[in-house]
Amino acid sequence: MVRPILALMTGLTLFALGGLQQPAGTLHTGKAFRFNKVREGVYHAVGTGALAVVGNSSIIVNDNDVIVVDDHVSPAAASVLLDELKDITTKPVRTVINTHFHYDHAHGNQIFGKDVEIIGHEFTREMLVGGKSIQMPLYRDYVAGIPRQIEDLKKRIASEADAARKATLQTQLQVAENNHASQAELKSTAPNVTLQTRMTLIRGDREIQIRFLGRAHTAGDVVVFLPKEKIVITGDMLTAALSNMSDGFVNEWPATLDELKKLDFDTVLPGHGEAFTDKAKIDYFQAYLRDVWSEVSRLKRQGVSAEDAAKRADLTKHKEHFPTIQGPGLPLIGVTRIYELLDQGSR
Ligand SMILES: [Zn+2]
Repeated sequence: MVRPILALMTGLTLFALGGLQQPAGTLHTGKAFRFNKVREGVYHAVGTGALAVVGNSSIIVNDNDVIVVDDHVSPAAASVLLDELKDITTKPVRTVINTHFHYDHAHGNQIFGKDVEIIGHEFTREMLVGGKSIQMPLYRDYVAGIPRQIEDLKKRIASEADAARKATLQTQLQVAENNHASQAELKSTAPNVTLQTRMTLIRGDREIQIRFLGRAHTAGDVVVFLPKEKIVITGDMLTAALSNMSDGFVNEWPATLDELKKLDFDTVLPGHGEAFTDKAKIDYFQAYLRDVWSEVSRLKRQGVSAEDAAKRADLTKHKEHFPTIQGPGLPLIGVTRIYELLDQGSR
């Protein structure tokens, strides 16, 4: 009589321990990441859609250790990243670099052990320490949107007759529910090593430069530059498409991108979208940013409210290079930010 009870108890204990090790919201079907090999030991990790990961990460596999640049939207996403990393290496992750403080790049920080160095700009630490960034509209709006997304998906599943489309919606629902569960476990975790302008890591014969080139997408963006491999990891200072502007310095951003152009690289691993080699994308984005600044400044001078400026700002001449531009208009959160900068006397 005793044996089955013991066996049952042991089973329960193991299950409970397993539960402690794995954060909530990690269950998913298939792989959550594609590890695109860019050079020997350098990968760009892009989400497949099986789990909410939002931003990309980049993986640098050295002789004895692994560096992860950016760790996604939640503890669950970072935990699954570490799990799936085993497909490409068994070496330990000893260093994490946050390109900036935004939730989709730094909300996996908490899963790393105390022996892991998390490196970021001083400003990134300032925003993540004590949970300052999670009180800001960008993250609050994101989290508030998840329950609405779940309700919406449930309604669409209930009314969907086509079996294949229903299955797709059910996967999306599982992804959203996992994300919701994982956001509830979030503990904002700041870098434990900071820099102001530059830091270099040497791993074997590989040089890894962490550079602050000026304010751009935030006040503390860093890029990770591998001079020998001619790769630059740009976070959201430069993505494959347009970047969010809610904490940006749109007026300073083009000059920061000029500094980026001075680095000798041929491949960009962006924080969103696929890796690219076409450097003309930087020119297109600089031209867009300059026009955003002048267009929003013009509307503000005319006494137009931020809400109306967000509807009227016309950047359609850039749609050839940025196809997401469908007509006039900019996200209100970005326009509000530009108004704030203009009120502070920025030019
Ligand atoms: Zn991002």
